[in-house]
Amino acid sequence: MAKQGIEYSPDRSDPQRVRLYDGLPEGISRAEVTFRVAGGLRGSRVVPVSRAEFAQLRTALESGYESPWSAPSRITVSEGQYYVRQAEQRIAERAAEFERRAARIDLDCPWCEQPRRYLGQIGFVTGHTGFMTEAPSELGQLVDKQHAYRCDSCGSLLYFADGVLPHPLPGRKRS
Ligand SMILES: [Zn+2]
Repeated sequence: MAKQGIEYSPDRSDPQRVRLYDGLPEGISRAEVTFRVAGGLRGSRVVPVSRAEFAQLRTALESGYESPWSAPSRITVSEGQYYVRQAEQRIAERAAEFERRAARIDLDCPWCEQPRRYLGQIGFVTGHTGFMTEAPSELGQLVDKQHAYRCDSCGSLLYFADGVLPHPLPGRKRS
């Protein structure tokens, strides 16, 4: 499973290494910012940002599975912190936008006037009919994942395509 979010090691308050898997500029799948001082066998070593003299950034492009890291580029400590902060901001903005959209969605069953319950993801097999037949062809079948909500009173179902909003949705706030 692909890693997500931002990993701060050892912690977010004074990290020495930050790995980013989200909130990155277009076309970049992951990035790593390390905070460093000069010295050691390799010319620099990783230290907490509070003691760092400079930073290093390396990135990987979004091309297929596990594309290689770029050569590291040397940046200032504040440029390194800015890179991380921008990603945090993009993630926060996107989450806020999802929240706004999700808050508009009413999960209540219109007949029973109660909220539909989240069942999880259901895979629908989709496909085409075969040659000279109405039966489905074995080729070209796909599993289309949908998030399902069911009313436990009447059994009516509501589906949402996967990959658009995070699920389960909160449902409309009742007042
Ligand atoms: Zn119902």
